[in-house]
Amino acid sequence: MANARTIVVIEDEDAIRRGIVDMLTIAGYETVEAADGEAGLTEAQRAGVSLVLLDLLLPKMNGFEVLEELRRTRQSLPVIILTARGSEDDRIRGLRSGADDYVMKPFSARELLARVEAVLRRSPERPEPVLRISSGSTVVDCGRREICGQGSERAALSEMETDILKRLASMSGRCVSREELLSAVWGIRDGVVETRAIDMHITRLRQKLRSHSTDDVEWIVTVRGKGYMLGPQLNVTRGGEGEDQA
Ligand code: CA
Repeated sequence: MANARTIVVIEDEDAIRRGIVDMLTIAGYETVEAADGEAGLTEAQRAGVSLVLLDLLLPKMNGFEVLEELRRTRQSLPVIILTARGSEDDRIRGLRSGADDYVMKPFSARELLARVEAVLRRSPERPEPVLRISSGSTVVDCGRREICGQGSERAALSEMETDILKRLASMSGRCVSREELLSAVWGIRDGVVETRAIDMHITRLRQKLRSHSTDDVEWIVTVRGKGYMLGPQLNVTRGGEGEDQA
């Protein structure tokens, strides 16, 4: 496998979690473990995750809550829920909440791997639709990572700047905390990087956007004491992949 896929395993029972991680590791996957819902959500929201195995009964945040939050922020990330045998209500509720599949405990390595492979095959890194954020004639194309200003003026965005904008856009009008940006964009655990670093990046990104704007719209709004949000006057569109209007 040229590029091992990363699977996040969210399960509070150590023995089961270890078992799953071993199975996946032997099968050639990279794994990340979490023993409660909160930690699991943080891990699942990092860039580069291919699939999530999610137990439902978890401390801090239950599996349904994790799933709900994931569906809001990472719509296309495949999730397989781990349910107790017999709990049909949980399975149905999980599937209705957007889980891609379920596996009933106890399960064999073969069964689990078959489900994982099937779900990954069905969603071969389902391409996220190309996100565009615009104001007047200024368009930020997150697929091409560039700002298209007046006429043929173009300015490149870094991967990090693009990720910040995508993250803000995915919250559609809601504030994103610095901590959330840290873990989602930088993938930093336990605040190794100070949240002030985010402010610096935001300031720079804001200047860049402003200098290429055809109007004086506010691209990134500071919500005092909370974090940042995308300017409410901006237009956010998601187009099909590979769509091109060159
Ligand atoms: Ca559990």
